[in-house]
Amino acid sequence: MISKKMQDALIDQINAELYSAYLYLAMAAEFEAQNLKGMAHWMEVQAKEETGHAKRLYDFVNNRGGRVTLKAIEAPPAEWKTPAAAFQAAYEHEQKVSALIHNLVDIARAEKDKAAEVMLAWFVDEQVEEEASSNEIAEKLKLIKDSANGLFMLDSVLGRRE
Ligand code: MG
Repeated sequence: MISKKMQDALIDQINAELYSAYLYLAMAAEFEAQNLKGMAHWMEVQAKEETGHAKRLYDFVNNRGGRVTLKAIEAPPAEWKTPAAAFQAAYEHEQKVSALIHNLVDIARAEKDKAAEVMLAWFVDEQVEEEASSNEIAEKLKLIKDSANGLFMLDSVLGRRE
């Protein structure tokens, strides 16, 4: 049986993951508007991953005898000035999510909830990937600067994400 404290903390994380999905879908819409279909595709794939993260936590709370109650999801920003700004915002967002996950691990340890701690280890690993991938693209966009060729080339590469 999950403790109320652990349950409530995981419910907050479900909300954070769904917000992430919302944020990346908003970025996808921005890229659609700029006709950067590859970047829009990359963000859509990312949004789907985030709903998967929320579902993983949702299943865990249910499997441990908890009760999930969902909260309102905050509206994401509607626009970003440049692709570089969007990917930089994505990178900064993932750093915040990593901090949230690390805090959950601390709560699991304080609650002596071994199952939660093991489940959260997957998220700790996943955040290393999430930060690396968004940072890599943000850094490439800094190198590309105002080169239309570079931007279209990167857009084409990102459109191949599976
Ligand atoms: Mg996530």
